[in-house]
Amino acid sequence: MIIDAHAHVDEVKAFGWYDPPEKLIRFMDRYGIDRAVILTYADEPGPEGALQRLLGYMRRYPKRFIPFLRMDPRYDVAQRILQDAVEQHGVKGLKLHPISNVCTPFSPLTVELIRLAGRLGVPTLFHSGDVALSLPWQIGRAAQLCPDAVIIMGHMGGFLHAEEAIRVAERHPNIILETSAMPYPHLIKEAVRRLGAERVVFGSDQPAAHPQVELKKIDVAGLTEQEKQLVLGENIARLLRL
Ligand SMILES: [Zn+2]
Repeated sequence: MIIDAHAHVDEVKAFGWYDPPEKLIRFMDRYGIDRAVILTYADEPGPEGALQRLLGYMRRYPKRFIPFLRMDPRYDVAQRILQDAVEQHGVKGLKLHPISNVCTPFSPLTVELIRLAGRLGVPTLFHSGDVALSLPWQIGRAAQLCPDAVIIMGHMGGFLHAEEAIRVAERHPNIILETSAMPYPHLIKEAVRRLGAERVVFGSDQPAAHPQVELKKIDVAGLTEQEKQLVLGENIARLLRL
């Protein structure tokens, strides 16, 4: 079974990213992806009503989509919304994109939200990359402050910081690296070698990135069959108790 740990669905024209669920389902069907963690582009709370759309997508494709709620930690009400979303609506994780709301990954309100996710038993997926507010060391600091929460580092540091992402994950056992939109297959192999195959998960960032390219990276990384199974689906299934 192939599970994509990072995919996008949202329909807010103002963002310039317009990706209705059918677009994702077509990609998933075409490239043999059974299930996908879905993320909106909008934050909750926020004027676009991200949670309601996320829940709607989940109801339309309950066997294919695994909803993570993208949140803006600046609002006190975020904690109550996250708790409700997980306990009442079956949301399976928290997504944070620190660049969109200009919140440092280790700011007090962000840390409180990550800790709450940990208590609720769901992971936090961070956007990571090459610009400030999303650098691996900054996410590492959040991991250090939230030892009881699982943190998935999306894009495993991106173009220039993938090696740093591996080093940071070595220091913080609660960090999992996610492979999407990072161009180096040999660093996926390196992450598996240094962290263990259990701490690396396949993600595609589709439909912006192409799932065939993202799957090919895993294919050519030089992993054993068993390691591939873990990375392509078994790890995220275990993490989310699917
Ligand atoms: Zn993404």
